Amino acid sequence: MRLILLGPPGAGKGTQSQRLVDKHGIVQLSTGDMLRAAVAAGTPVGLKAKSIMEAGQLVPDDVVVAIIADRIGQPDARKGFVLDGFPRTVPQAEALDKLLAERGLKLDAVIELKVDEGILIKRIETRVAEMTARGEKVRSDDKPEVLKGRLDAYRAQTAPLAGYYDAKGMLRSVDGMAPVDQVTAALDGILKPSSAV
Ligand code: ADP
Repeated sequence: MRLILLGPPGAGKGTQSQRLVDKHGIVQLSTGDMLRAAVAAGTPVGLKAKSIMEAGQLVPDDVVVAIIADRIGQPDARKGFVLDGFPRTVPQAEALDKLLAERGLKLDAVIELKVDEGILIKRIETRVAEMTARGEKVRSDDKPEVLKGRLDAYRAQTAPLAGYYDAKGMLRSVDGMAPVDQVTAALDGILKPSSAV
């Protein structure tokens, strides 16, 4: 099973991806997590990405496309994957189409988590408060002033992907404002018919 979850920061992509991983034995490929790991490890990619991420902007397409190209070829991704945070621009989506076609792979679904922006800011504030309470390090780009930039980047560069996949007849939407379990149930409902094939 190969899926894309689309949605703005705080839409719940990470939470739902983790559930899909547990249920379907696929891997979660989060470019945000991979980039944060590269930053922490101080790799050349990390050095390039650090200041861009801290400013809430998007890392160049060629950088993330190279990361994903490498990752989807690894053995643990053979059973499938859920892409979380990638693609984030139309050129990234086009590059992904090409990568999959070269490998003879197809996407099963592109699912958009639809959410209200006002609520997103609240959700991320809650995430920050919970992480702080657990003594975990808070993401530097979860600061309110950076978050606004991330939402702007989403609106300008990532939201057009819904139209891109809709034009291909691949887009499905779920209400990301519903309680977490209800969102999971909605995803299950979408995925059942295709996984039975
Ligand atoms: P979010 O919670 O905003 O969805 P992520 O963890 O997915 O955050 O990403 C954090 C940051 O990493 C982004 O703001 C961006 O700078 C960078 N990033 C992640 N994925 C991509 C991508 N596909 N293209 C460009 N930049 C990316």
